[in-house]
Amino acid sequence: MASAVFDTAVIGGGILGLAAARSIGRRNGARVVVLEAESKLAEHQTGHNSGVIHSGLYYKPGSLKAQTCGGGREAMYAFCEKHGIRHERCGKLVVATSTAERPRLDELERRGRANGLTGLTRLDADGIREHEPHVAGVAGLHVPDTGIVDYSQVCEAIADEIREQDGEIRTGARFLGLQRNNGALVLETAAGDVEARRLINCAGLRCDDVARLCGVTPTVRIIPFRGEYYKLRPERESLVRHLIYPVPDPGFPFLGVHFTRMVGGGVEAGPNAVLAFRREGYTRTSFSAGDMTSTLTWPGFWKMAGRHWRTGCGEMWRSWSKAAFVQALRKLMPELKEDDVTPHGAGVRAQAVGRDGALLDDFCIERAENQLHVLNAPSPGATASLAIGDALAGMAAGSA
Ligand SMILES: Cc1cc2nc3c(=O)[nH]c(=O)nc-3n(C[C@H](O)[C@H](O)[C@H](O)COP(=O)(O)OP(=O)(O)OC[C@H]3O[C@@H](n4cnc5c(N)ncnc54)[C@H](O)[C@@H]3O)c2cc1C
Repeated sequence: MASAVFDTAVIGGGILGLAAARSIGRRNGARVVVLEAESKLAEHQTGHNSGVIHSGLYYKPGSLKAQTCGGGREAMYAFCEKHGIRHERCGKLVVATSTAERPRLDELERRGRANGLTGLTRLDADGIREHEPHVAGVAGLHVPDTGIVDYSQVCEAIADEIREQDGEIRTGARFLGLQRNNGALVLETAAGDVEARRLINCAGLRCDDVARLCGVTPTVRIIPFRGEYYKLRPERESLVRHLIYPVPDPGFPFLGVHFTRMVGGGVEAGPNAVLAFRREGYTRTSFSAGDMTSTLTWPGFWKMAGRHWRTGCGEMWRSWSKAAFVQALRKLMPELKEDDVTPHGAGVRAQAVGRDGALLDDFCIERAENQLHVLNAPSPGATASLAIGDALAGMAAGSA
């Protein structure tokens, strides 16, 4: 028996599910319920990310990422101001470490300008050192609008707004299956049934499983990629002033290991990108037979592996060898030593991979009757969350 009738049930209490619920409640006062499997909000990607408010530099103009990152970034800064959440618009430096990387840096600058970024500054080797005295590069791009925040704190404030709008947040309420009752949806959860007119799936690492439970056959599968971090020892934190990134490999949706000053103090280095043997697998030995079967039975996984095995092996090696990880960081900061860093946890990315082996770069949302399924929401998903939430609310209203 369902306990209440809601306008919308949102599956997943990460930043996207919460942002969508907030936007729907704000839009027309509709009653919303957020169903979160864990006992706390933001336990997975949102609570294990780099905490960067991205500027919008990298994304192909016209893509969903480009459309939502700039607006989402400014909305995020305004939201933090309104709720007194600690944040800093500290700027970042993208560094080309060889002349071969210059054309890719040019392309980033072009994309940034096309995406409406202002204040971008090109730097030579001396200019780089003025911003970051310990970084060596042949050319740099300074991006003033990048910032830092703790997204778990943002989630707490969004959850407060949802409750103020008379919405409900239920933790320990893993979504298990869907029935229909006179046109309404009945969502079976670990904490009882919930009836709603429509649902939005924001289940992150489990979004494809959830879509299948809703009767939708997704065109992609989630392949989990763990991103491991190191932390600079406190006495070496002075090596980094703000955020320092390499020029990313355009063949991959990941940004390459970088240095990030955290808003709560300390400096992180990472993340790498290694295949995870469990979707919520935060250590090298985490393993789930079910998750591995899901990965290995997807034809796209083998096509992706065939194409990128060399890079994949390098990432695996950097995962096991601290020396190799530090070597990658030393490209940006030659004086960094192995002793300067200590292991500092990991996050797992929900990366959608197509049947053809393509790593989906853009955000991906699929529609079904009275349902929306967010099937790819990698970085800058947290930055763009408030804009994506508005977009989902608009789409949900349109499909009512
Ligand atoms: C290592 C790493 C670094 C990143 N760095 C950045 C960054 O610096 N800046 C940035 O903008 N973005 C960054 N990102 C991306 C960003 O974190 C994600 O885009 C964003 O967190 C996605 O939010 P989400 O709500 O979709 O997913 P999640 O935060 O994973 O939330 C999904 C939720 O769904 C719940 N769930 C799953 N199955 C069920 C079920 N059956 N029933 C109910 N609930 C369920 C999960 O428990 C989880 O809480 C990073 C990501 C990673 C992994």
